[in-house]
Amino acid sequence: MLALDIQNLVKRYPSGTEALKGVTLQIPEGAFFGLLGPNGAGKSTLIHCTTGLARPTSGSVRVFEHDAVNHYQHARSGVGLAPQEINLDQFLTVEQVLDYHGGYFGMTRRERRARAGELLEAFSLTEKREDFTRFLSGGMKRRLTLARALMHRPPLLILDEPTAGVDVELRLELWRYIERVNVEGTTILLTTHYLEEAERLCDRIAFINHGSIITEGSVGEICDHFHVATLEDAYLRLIGRDELSRA
Ligand code: ADP
Repeated sequence: MLALDIQNLVKRYPSGTEALKGVTLQIPEGAFFGLLGPNGAGKSTLIHCTTGLARPTSGSVRVFEHDAVNHYQHARSGVGLAPQEINLDQFLTVEQVLDYHGGYFGMTRRERRARAGELLEAFSLTEKREDFTRFLSGGMKRRLTLARALMHRPPLLILDEPTAGVDVELRLELWRYIERVNVEGTTILLTTHYLEEAERLCDRIAFINHGSIITEGSVGEICDHFHVATLEDAYLRLIGRDELSRA
């Protein structure tokens, strides 16, 4: 089954910007998929069209065979989103953030309590459970947005630059947890600017630029396609900056 099936997706903003110019992308269930591209390439727009935050101009998006455009409620419960911008309610405690999120997705009180306890433990937030989110450090806020995304056990987890501005320890910690979630069966869609990270973690990669998918495949296939040894060099070739290559 496909976790995500995007066909001919076009998104034109009212300003006239065509952020997606007919994107077709398929992510098989269980994949660890990296969507890479420079700023302004259309990554966030693609994620927003997948999660019901933006309405496509045309084309289709299906999440586990549910239409994510016209019946997005079904599709939405299959997706957990950890957005790039941390958007926690400042007036809730850590535990309430998880509890309300679970409630929104129809989890019973008992399920919510058990799941929140498990995630607080996994993300080293147990001691902070009664603290208001506004008193958390940046790293803790980042961990909490990830725990929140996982709260309703979504089969597809979308991570929009989860490690931007994150220190080394937290980055390694996040990856360890995300890899475990993937091994346990959750499909991952990741955007990141850290190419070495993507090369190590992702089993499939797509490069997007100016609203179009330029190439898609395993790291090996992409390197072969561009006749280079690393994903970074493939990226530099893609954006026409070969002279920056470290090879
Ligand atoms: P990325 O996530 O890859 O940085 P985005 O999807 O944010 O790219 O942006 C793609 C293009 O769409 C850019 O040119 C950006 O300026 C434009 N864009 C994004 N969001 C909006 C919006 N809400 N209104 C108008 N233009 C937008």
